Amino acid sequence: MDIDMNQTLQNIASHYYGKELKDCTDREVYYILLDITKELMKSVPVIEGDRKLYYISAEFLIGKLLSNNLLNLGIYADVRKVLEENGISLAAVEEYEPEPSLGNGGLGRLAACFLDSIATLELPGDGVGLNYHLGLFHQAFQNYKQKELPDPWLSDNSWLNDTGKYYPVEFGDRTVHAHLYSIDVCGYSGKKNALKLFDLDTVNEAIVTEGIDFDKSDIEENLTLFLYPDDSDEKGRLLRVYQQYFLVSAGAQMIIEDVKAHGWPLTSISDHAVIQINDTHPSMVIPELIRLLMNEGLTIDQAIEQTEKTCAYTNHTILAEALEKWPESFLEKVAPQIVPIIEELDRRAKERSDNPKTAIIDDNGLVHMAHMDIHFSKSTNGVAKIHTDILKNTELHDFYELYPEKFNNKTNGITFRRWLQACNPQLTDWIISKIGDGFLTDSDELEKLLPFVKDKKALAELADIKMTKKKELAVFMKKRQNIDLDVNSIFDIQVKRLHEYKRQQMNLLSAINLYQEIKNGYKPEQKVTIIFGAKAAPAYILAKDIIHAILVFSQIVDSDPEVNKYMQVVMVENYDVTCAEKLIPAADISEQISLASKEASGTSNMKFMLNGAVTLGTDDGANVEIHDLVGGDNIFIFGTESEDVIESYAKGDYHPQEVLEKEPNLDPIVNFLVGEEMMALGDPECLHRLHHDITTKDWFMALRDLDAYMDERKKAYAAYADKDKWFAMALTNIAMAGYFSSDRTIAQYNDDIWKLK
Ligand SMILES: *Cc1c(COP(=O)(O)O)cnc(C)c1O
Repeated sequence: MDIDMNQTLQNIASHYYGKELKDCTDREVYYILLDITKELMKSVPVIEGDRKLYYISAEFLIGKLLSNNLLNLGIYADVRKVLEENGISLAAVEEYEPEPSLGNGGLGRLAACFLDSIATLELPGDGVGLNYHLGLFHQAFQNYKQKELPDPWLSDNSWLNDTGKYYPVEFGDRTVHAHLYSIDVCGYSGKKNALKLFDLDTVNEAIVTEGIDFDKSDIEENLTLFLYPDDSDEKGRLLRVYQQYFLVSAGAQMIIEDVKAHGWPLTSISDHAVIQINDTHPSMVIPELIRLLMNEGLTIDQAIEQTEKTCAYTNHTILAEALEKWPESFLEKVAPQIVPIIEELDRRAKERSDNPKTAIIDDNGLVHMAHMDIHFSKSTNGVAKIHTDILKNTELHDFYELYPEKFNNKTNGITFRRWLQACNPQLTDWIISKIGDGFLTDSDELEKLLPFVKDKKALAELADIKMTKKKELAVFMKKRQNIDLDVNSIFDIQVKRLHEYKRQQMNLLSAINLYQEIKNGYKPEQKVTIIFGAKAAPAYILAKDIIHAILVFSQIVDSDPEVNKYMQVVMVENYDVTCAEKLIPAADISEQISLASKEASGTSNMKFMLNGAVTLGTDDGANVEIHDLVGGDNIFIFGTESEDVIESYAKGDYHPQEVLEKEPNLDPIVNFLVGEEMMALGDPECLHRLHHDITTKDWFMALRDLDAYMDERKKAYAAYADKDKWFAMALTNIAMAGYFSSDRTIAQYNDDIWKLK
């Protein structure tokens, strides 16, 4: 951009606030930057083409947008410099930007990284989602427990643009009008796409009573209040189906309108539109698109054929409970007009195969959304090599036999603009000083860093950068939660949604073991700070019990002077993209300890690696590919292998009691959960429930891997003592992270599935 940044900012400051830039508050500067950035983005050209992608997703965890947009407009460095000259810190200004609360975890963050890469590769492609007013929820800690609060993020002046367009959505008993908003998504290329978000004008935030409770019956008032409303009762589950149909119906109408506006015939819509279905939440787009195409005059055969060629499905999980199945009666209530189409698709699917395991509607009247996706879209992809292999060989084996040509792998990726350039400018500048800036557009060039693993001066510089980021995190945590961190300790970090399969409970048990060893006289050479960050789904009791146990244990460690010299346990409140951008660059150890076979890919593992943390993890998800890339000497791997886990589930032969009998050393660790120290502070009901579950059920086999985990963790801590060796490992990880750029992932989606032009 060819503008005098100082003059421009001064002019706006004077115009809006009647003062000089240097006298503006950080909040005022935020609104100045928001305005100028939005204005500059208006003149960025839209990416056009003959075939366009619509990435449809219930979640877009986009994070704050200011830095990212400045970067992609190519004015980040300029703005940062002008602000600094006026005594203003860009980081401080950014604190006034609310984080849009439109996602939950990895799946939503992936969608956001993809939008960045799609625009950067100059491919025509928009995101399609919902504009949740109060987000997922804001997590607060009260009495060592998670408390859920609304997370409002909308204000009069935000990144959202009102398009003024409405689309009618017919529910069984009424018609509502989906209001289309749009957020510009500017790529590093200097061209833009958009994130299209639908909303309902009648939604009323005032119906929220205590916490995130609200009356779930009035769709017109509650439809886009929250992402993933509590589905532990029937009204909540119905509301989710209402949201899903609202998204896909408005989305499909918009897509058809786009195609028609270009003058293209709908009989060849698949030449001009691709719909990537991000997990099963938007699966109803298939019958809805068929319905709308028939309304436009296509025969049912034409409509089904075009839809199957237009849609592609991404699977994100093999957890059975996460594969959505809706009772046909729900669909009958929410959108009766698509039920005959789903029944027709079911009939045709049964013609293609008489295997009852591939039916769309099962004998209990449940509609299997993933089955509809696989039969009636052109592609089904997993999100890491091992995940796709498990889909083909086990979970979706019957479908793979039916449609081998539809299955493919697209290992996830992350955008380096956000997860390196914006969150770690120090490391970015350092890399540029060593190998030039080619890696910013060709991430494989990071491998040019490999020769520096033998350069002691370079390794010492890298260590200095890590220290800088640890200090920044310490300032952040002090301000945010009034917690003091010891920057000279090892930062050992596990941040991700709370789920039993991700095994935060195993991390906790290992931390309890360290505590007990210290109480018994062990004096670690190196202090460690174990950091957790995780939200639990509001109705997921055991996940909330795990958070409770971590918070109670953290207090016990903190208040014990014998122990707190050697260890600290911290739980970050309200883990979100903003915290992730502070935590990840400061990490020494990246905890990726899911039960092998259960984590589809993971993406935080990639973010940590790129920022020079060393992975301590299982051979699961994309960890397998990280392991292959960096080699066994630059990663700490432990635990039961995925084949053995799958076999155990098939045989049902895992029993935690047997592990406890064979490994009596685990007894005192597990029993600590219900020992007097924990009971003195904690809620006995929660702690007993957790203890009971781990000792009798332990569905995700934390006890089975606990010994191996504790051993490997000690090895990692010991390795940290040799700083040259440690930072050589860290540098190897950075150098090999190029593969995980979402630019690579998107190029593969485009080559194999989308073929945009
Ligand atoms: C990257 C990211 C995730 C995904 O983390 P995983 O460890 O891959 O599950 C979740 N939440 C936020 C805020 C993220 O940035």
